[in-house]
Amino acid sequence: MGDSYSTYLLDIEGTVCPISFVKDTLFPYFAKKVPQLVQQDSRDSPVSDILSQFHIGDKDQLQAHILELVAKDVKDPILKQLQGHIWAQGYESGQIKAPIYADAIDFIKRKKRVFIYSSGSVKAQKLLFGYVQDPNTPALDSLDLNSYIDGYFDINTSGKKTKAQSYANILRDIGASASEVLFLSDNPLELDAAASVGIGTGLATRPGNTPVPDTQKYQVFKNFETL
Ligand SMILES: [Mg+2]
Repeated sequence: MGDSYSTYLLDIEGTVCPISFVKDTLFPYFAKKVPQLVQQDSRDSPVSDILSQFHIGDKDQLQAHILELVAKDVKDPILKQLQGHIWAQGYESGQIKAPIYADAIDFIKRKKRVFIYSSGSVKAQKLLFGYVQDPNTPALDSLDLNSYIDGYFDINTSGKKTKAQSYANILRDIGASASEVLFLSDNPLELDAAASVGIGTGLATRPGNTPVPDTQKYQVFKNFETL
């Protein structure tokens, strides 16, 4: 299905990496750091600047508040800022590496025009693709795939992933017509939104993805080797 397209738009979780990466790696990594961040908070550090925006003086209360936001998955802008900062440190120190599938790495390198569209921020996307676990030598240095990627879109740049208008915005930004673009995602609602503006779509069925009831509606792919 991939050959008739010149431009590819890729979702991240459930498409180029396991759906569990954020829930099983990034969230626990952050939660583990919270007590240390709050209790050792020193003045005039970037962390302290972010923490002060919560306006909670008591350290135990602050810690409980942050962990509650995490547990309830509240989309709090201060929490997002703090998480972004901690994850950046995790990637830069080599403690976090993004488990991008080997076939997806090969695809991103092989195709000329590749764009990313994820609900994670553009900043988080660049970190993720900047510190990719090398499938051949997982223990060694990570791979930086950013030079193979032509652009990044998130909810702020383009709108919600289940809205048709978001895909129209992306087409305008990349200067492509809908028929040139193939969008790949594990979420049928996102595929429907993209298809409604004429973009080609493919449904990723990776291990661990939520099963899609009416798969016959979609072009299904198990990995990027066939694309
Ligand atoms: Mg996804």
